[in-house]
Amino acid sequence: MTDDCLFCKIAKGEIPSKKVYEDERVFAFEDINPQAPVHIIIIPKRHIGGLNSLSEGDEAVLGYIQAAAAKIASQFQELKNGYRLVNNCGADAGQTVFHIHYHLLGGRTFGWPPG
Ligand code: 5GP
Ligand code: ZN
Repeated sequence: MTDDCLFCKIAKGEIPSKKVYEDERVFAFEDINPQAPVHIIIIPKRHIGGLNSLSEGDEAVLGYIQAAAAKIASQFQELKNGYRLVNNCGADAGQTVFHIHYHLLGGRTFGWPPG
């Protein structure tokens, strides 16, 4: 836990969120500013700043998050034809919260390349 971290506080329930999924390692909740009909944020409960600040052993929870994303996606009819799982790493990519998180987006067709 990092004292000032928004997503640590959300994971602990200190700041309210619309929870979608939780287990011992990850927490998932609806994005406050959705960019698609389904927009869920998936985070590890343990604080990791971002992909550029991984410590030894962090790889496992990142793989775990991908499996959790697939499990969550399977619960949403809107995602049956596909979805996008996105990590923004650093300022140029648009990362604004420095607790690593994956956006699970779907319910519409996405373009490529991303904006
Ligand atoms: P980033 O831009 O860092 O990849 O994504 C951060 C995401 O967190 C944004 O999509 C933003 O809308 C979302 N977000 C920021 N603050 C809050 C909050 O207090 N509650 C929720 N549910 N989402 C938030
Ligand atoms: Zn944190």
